[in-house]
Amino acid sequence: MEEYTFKERLSRCFNGKDIDRPPAVCFTQTATVGQMESTGSFWPDAHLNTDKMVKLAAAGHDHIGFESIRVPFNCTAEPKLFGCKVKDGSPNIPPSVQGSVVKDSEDINSLRSIDMMQGEVATILESIEILKKEYPEVPLIGSMLGPVTLAENLNGARFFVNMAQNDELVPNLLEFTSEFNKEYARAMVERGVEYVVMLDPVCNGQLLGRDYYTKFAQSYQQKVVDTIHDLGAISVIHVCGNNDQILDLLDMTGTDGISLDHKTNVQQALDQINNARYIGNLDPSGNLYQGTPEKVAEEVKNVLNQGVDIPAPGCAVVSNTPDSNLKALVEATRMNGTN
Ligand SMILES: [Zn+2]
Repeated sequence: MEEYTFKERLSRCFNGKDIDRPPAVCFTQTATVGQMESTGSFWPDAHLNTDKMVKLAAAGHDHIGFESIRVPFNCTAEPKLFGCKVKDGSPNIPPSVQGSVVKDSEDINSLRSIDMMQGEVATILESIEILKKEYPEVPLIGSMLGPVTLAENLNGARFFVNMAQNDELVPNLLEFTSEFNKEYARAMVERGVEYVVMLDPVCNGQLLGRDYYTKFAQSYQQKVVDTIHDLGAISVIHVCGNNDQILDLLDMTGTDGISLDHKTNVQQALDQINNARYIGNLDPSGNLYQGTPEKVAEEVKNVLNQGVDIPAPGCAVVSNTPDSNLKALVEATRMNGTN
C-alpha cells in the first residue's frame, strides 16, 4: 500500500510537499501504435472521434501505467478550428499544419466569432468530460498550443519577419491567441482537467532569443498561466530544444511546471528555475523509441539523480515507441530510480 493516491502525490509534488516517490506521469502525448492495436483506436481516427480518443488516451494509464491521462495526441486541433489546412497523418505520423489563415489584423476579426465547440476541439472537450467520469482517481491533463505557437501557425512563415519588422499584427495576434488560450483552458478545467499544458515550441530559446521572448512571449504566456491558476488548475509549459537563454524568464511566468527536452543541461537549468517543477528530460527518440527497457530505466535514474522533479519524455512520445520502454519508464520512476 503506497502512501499517496496518484492525485495526492502529483498535487503534493507541485505544491513542494514531501512525497514518497516521484509521480509516474506524462505531460506530452502518450499514444503508441501498440496502444492503438490493443484498443482498436488508431490515428488519425482517434484525433477526430470522441470514443476512440477516450479509449486511446485511457490506454496510457490502463496499458502503460502512467499515473495520469492526457488528451489530445496532436498539435493541430486549434489551427484547424481557425481554418488552417491540416494533413491527417497516419498511425505513425501525427497530423501537421499545411497552411496559414492570417495575413493582416483584419483577418483576425473574422476568427473572433468561431465557436470552439466544433471539430477536434469539441472532441477533446467531450473526451475530457467522459474521462473525468470514468477515471475520477487519475490526474487529468489537457494540452493546448501556447499563444506564440498558435500565432505562428495562424500567420505562417511570415510571423518571424513580422516580428523583426515590429508589425502591429504580431501583438494583435498574440492578444487574440492568448485570449483564446484562456477560454480554452476554462472549457477544459470546467470539464475536469486539473493540469493544463501549454505546448509552445516556437518559444524555443535559440529560435526566439531572450529579447524576443521578453517582448513577444512572456507576458502572453503569463496571462494564460494566471487564468489557469484562477481556475484552480496547475500550469505546465513545454518548450522543445535548448532553452538556456530563457529559462529564468519562462520561470517568471509563474508556471507550476516547465517541461524540457534532452538537449537541456539539467544543472544549468536548475540554477535558473526557482519556482517551477522540472519535468523531463528523457530522450524521446534516441532512448524511449530506439533504446531498451534497461537503457530507459538507466536514464530515469540519471535524470532523478541530477535533480529533475518528474522524469518524463522530453517531447512528444514517438508513436512507434515500444510499450515496453514506456512501461520501464513508469516502473523505474515508481522504484525512484533505484533499480
Ligand atoms: Zn517538444
